[in-house]
Amino acid sequence: MSEYTEQTWQQETDFDKANPAPAFWTGNSYFAFGGLLPCPNCKTIGFYSPRFEPRADVNRKYRVCKFCGFAQELTGYAYETSGEKPYRWVMVTCPSCSPQGLFGVYDWKVPWDTSSKKCGSCQKDMQEAKWPSDDPDHPFHKWKAQVLEILEKNRPTA
Ligand SMILES: [Zn+2]
Ligand SMILES: [Zn+2]
Repeated sequence: MSEYTEQTWQQETDFDKANPAPAFWTGNSYFAFGGLLPCPNCKTIGFYSPRFEPRADVNRKYRVCKFCGFAQELTGYAYETSGEKPYRWVMVTCPSCSPQGLFGVYDWKVPWDTSSKKCGSCQKDMQEAKWPSDDPDHPFHKWKAQVLEILEKNRPTA
């Protein structure tokens, strides 16, 4: 995997701004897991994007894929723990509420965060989930298929 630099982060951010990803209607807003760049790890489109978190000290710049868990930090507080090497996030779910969600109920955390996340709906502790890349029955496969279908439909024919 090529080196992760400020230039890479900027190029990927510019690409995402210029190429808005399909988003789904949640009931009160549009939501997308990621942009149209393929994940450097699993190559999936629609779940990966560069991220920016403004901070008082050092802004956090990183990139993450919500399909396979690929994550890599460039600057900011998380970089101090992860270093420059890609690592894998932990995906958690609420087994009671997830079947009721459009694409399930999921949240994410860094692997060194040992605290338990609470479900936003029922307040129960969320449990570690398999990543969609490791689980063919994961509901995110439905969104992956829809993204590819939308892109296929919008493909220029000229
Ligand atoms: Zn990925
Ligand atoms: Zn719940």
